[in-house]
Amino acid sequence: KSQAILKYQSEHESSAVSYSKGMPMALKLGKGATLVDVDDNVFIDMFGGAGVMALGSSHPEILKVAHEQIDQVTHSLDIPTPTRQKMVETLMKILPDELTRVFFGGPTGSDAVEQAIKLARYNTGRYEVIAFEGAYHGMTGTALALTSDEGHREGLGPLTPGVRFIPFPYTYRNPFGCPDENVDLQAAETLERVLSDSHSGYSKPAAVILESVQGEGGTIIPTTRFMKRVREICDKHDVLLICDEIQAGLGRTGKMFAFQHFDIVPDIITMSKALGGMGFPISAIAYKEKLNTWPTGKTIGTFRGNMIAFAAGAAGLNWMLDNKVCEHATELGKKCMVKLKKLEADCSIVGEARGIGLMMAIEMVKDKKTKEPAPDFAKKVRTYAHRRGVMIEIGGHYNNVARLLPPLIITEKLAMTAIDIISDVIRDIEK
Ligand code: PMP
Repeated sequence: KSQAILKYQSEHESSAVSYSKGMPMALKLGKGATLVDVDDNVFIDMFGGAGVMALGSSHPEILKVAHEQIDQVTHSLDIPTPTRQKMVETLMKILPDELTRVFFGGPTGSDAVEQAIKLARYNTGRYEVIAFEGAYHGMTGTALALTSDEGHREGLGPLTPGVRFIPFPYTYRNPFGCPDENVDLQAAETLERVLSDSHSGYSKPAAVILESVQGEGGTIIPTTRFMKRVREICDKHDVLLICDEIQAGLGRTGKMFAFQHFDIVPDIITMSKALGGMGFPISAIAYKEKLNTWPTGKTIGTFRGNMIAFAAGAAGLNWMLDNKVCEHATELGKKCMVKLKKLEADCSIVGEARGIGLMMAIEMVKDKKTKEPAPDFAKKVRTYAHRRGVMIEIGGHYNNVARLLPPLIITEKLAMTAIDIISDVIRDIEK
């Protein structure tokens, strides 16, 4: 049955459709951290809809709230509703005190990025933006211009002007090509240099944007001293700092927001993915009071803030707080990493296993000494794991990273089973 649906999709939908090529299946239903295809094969979901399904599938309490909302009102533009207020109240509860304002973007993460950059430009009167190598911020105009992967950009002509990339610290395969443990500080000093050196060729930008933990770039976790130094440099040069929390935010890393690991507060943050509770589309930015300068009607849009997403999203975030989901993600993430680190130690084709909360990755290499990236192995891990009933994502600078983003509610037993299967698959590939 799956094959017939896949055939239809490939005949009538765009050739750009990608996920079904990596994991050939047609989805019938989901429950918690398991998914069932139309042929009744059951999969452990270590993919989580690319980080969307923090609460897993068909969470009964969230579903109930969503159903109730459908029966009441499903669309309201900016007209206030009690449901919308509940979402704002919930965000106010989880955001740091400094981020006092929220603005709902369109339904996708890219929309939030567009709004964040617009807000930074409007407030500073400047237009340039500094982003980082390995960044993924989306596929629309400016968001695409901020996404570093040439594969997504080539053939499209000039994108939004004014975006410059500098290296993101990556101690394993660092951008400076030397095994230096100070690679994080070197990256921060690159920022300082381009901002302060009048011969760097950079104009003073409106903002610096970074993912608090790089996601599609291969689950790259920065150090606290890097993040603190970036905050300091932005303050020194009066440049706004935007943290993209679309993937790493809302519990994924074991804290409500990933930037909270690093003891900084950004000026603007972006949110989407898990914000809609269970896959309902929504995005938002949150920002500091001093940036609240947009005149009424300055930026508008039809689908800004979906009522079902407001209802399910607020219910989801409150459920996460009440049920200590961040704590669960932290604890379970640590247990998963024990197994994954053992895999790293045992296998010559695992360059590094890394993770923070339930955002984890296995970097596949041809061999440990040369650290040559092995995208073919990563693809094989995804295909063979899928055949054995585990869904994962791949990503990374070189497409060589097996990425794990399970629902945050996944049980220890299911997560361990999935990791055992993935480990077996990798050991088989190694042979
Ligand atoms: N920012 C980050 C960090 C992301 O991971 C993504 C999606 N992978 C986006 C932005 C773009 O979100 P969307 O695909 O919903 O436009």
